[in-house]
Amino acid sequence: MKVLVVGAGIGGLGAAIALRQRGFAVDVVEIKPQLSVYGVGINQPANSLRALRAMGVLDEIMAVGCQYDHTDFYAADGELIVHVPSVMGGDVPANTALSRLNLHKILIGGAERHDVKISYGTTMERFTDRGHAVDVEFTDGRRESYDLVAAFDGIKSATRRTVFGPEHDAVYSGFGVFRVTLPRPGYVDGVRVYQALGVKAGFIPLSATTMYMFVVTPDPQGVSHRPEEFASVLKERMAPFGALPGEVREALQPADDIVYSPISDVLLPLPWFSGRVGILGDAAHACAPHLTQGAGMALEDGLVLADGLDAGGSLEERLRAFEQRRFPRARLVQDASRGILQAEMSINAGNYDQSVQGMRDHLVEQSHQVEAILNQPA
Ligand SMILES: Cc1cc2nc3c(=O)[nH]c(=O)nc-3n(C[C@H](O)[C@H](O)[C@H](O)COP(=O)(O)OP(=O)(O)OC[C@H]3O[C@@H](n4cnc5c(N)ncnc54)[C@H](O)[C@@H]3O)c2cc1C
Repeated sequence: MKVLVVGAGIGGLGAAIALRQRGFAVDVVEIKPQLSVYGVGINQPANSLRALRAMGVLDEIMAVGCQYDHTDFYAADGELIVHVPSVMGGDVPANTALSRLNLHKILIGGAERHDVKISYGTTMERFTDRGHAVDVEFTDGRRESYDLVAAFDGIKSATRRTVFGPEHDAVYSGFGVFRVTLPRPGYVDGVRVYQALGVKAGFIPLSATTMYMFVVTPDPQGVSHRPEEFASVLKERMAPFGALPGEVREALQPADDIVYSPISDVLLPLPWFSGRVGILGDAAHACAPHLTQGAGMALEDGLVLADGLDAGGSLEERLRAFEQRRFPRARLVQDASRGILQAEMSINAGNYDQSVQGMRDHLVEQSHQVEAILNQPA
């Protein structure tokens, strides 16, 4: 079987490795002219680490990343609300956070070891599903036929639009997130989340010396902060915080490498494959980042697809089985992530005490329920 993977992001690279491991021929096209990933961190929870282990790159991930096993929630002034230990992992760490650049480089290394050819600056110009094969014409003029096209082309997926229509475009949540990599104080040995009214700041350890901060804040749709204003806007949004986020706010500089992303989500209803062309990863099920599960879901997609294609039955049966296996898990992650985002962002002066008590009473149990499911095989 010959598969075209569209997009050399986390999901596309993982899928290419998993497909090659099972002996399939794989081409990858990536629209960007070269590897370019913004310089912030990314957490990989245990289920994602298992997918990375199956792809043969876990040792490299562990060597450059930072392992941790809990999340502490604090009030804006630094008072501890609740300590939430993780129940994920066992055979792998509960979490390993690392820089996105390192994750990409490691996956690209894995793909290269499996002789995957990545064509940068290239995408599908047009494609025709002829029933027994998909004919693809690329932007560089090449024409090829494939047994399957697996599009991991991200939250703004052009393939999703072409195959399923603009009614499935991602929907903006009303919130955006600033991120920046910072020096790490020794006491940041797990995730720290600081909750203020309508704004939250979090910290994740990335290495022995670095951590990254994320600040989630409301913003109107279509807002575009100018990069030179990121530091001043972020300082203003962080005004309610004392403790660690307060110290960070005071030290922020215009030259800091701050990244801003709107938070949107999309869940493509089944089917994800129309004939021999399918939509996977963020293209099918991008979620709010609150469970740090987006990359893991994309990596699991690639692994489960490769396993499924390697199994018996008609192609149609194998693709339907893949979708049926992945959809409930993607929906769980999306619902839970959106639920956390909305709950945190709806905390106001009127419901603050009740919300904090609710976190103390229920957060450990709620978190463990979701983690117990995600700790099961993909
Ligand atoms: C603020 C924020 C924080 C996050 N934090 C985490 C976290 O801590 N942990 C986690 O697991 N996830 C996190 N995520 C989610 C995670 O980044 C995504 O879920 C993950 O990158 C999805 O992988 P993907 O391969 O599906 O898409 P992407 O990584 O977006 O890759 C898509 C690729 O396709 C390429 N492409 C696009 N269009 C085309 C085209 N037409 N032709 C060819 N190529 C194309 C793109 O250039 C890109 O390389 C976060 C997301 C956000 C927004």
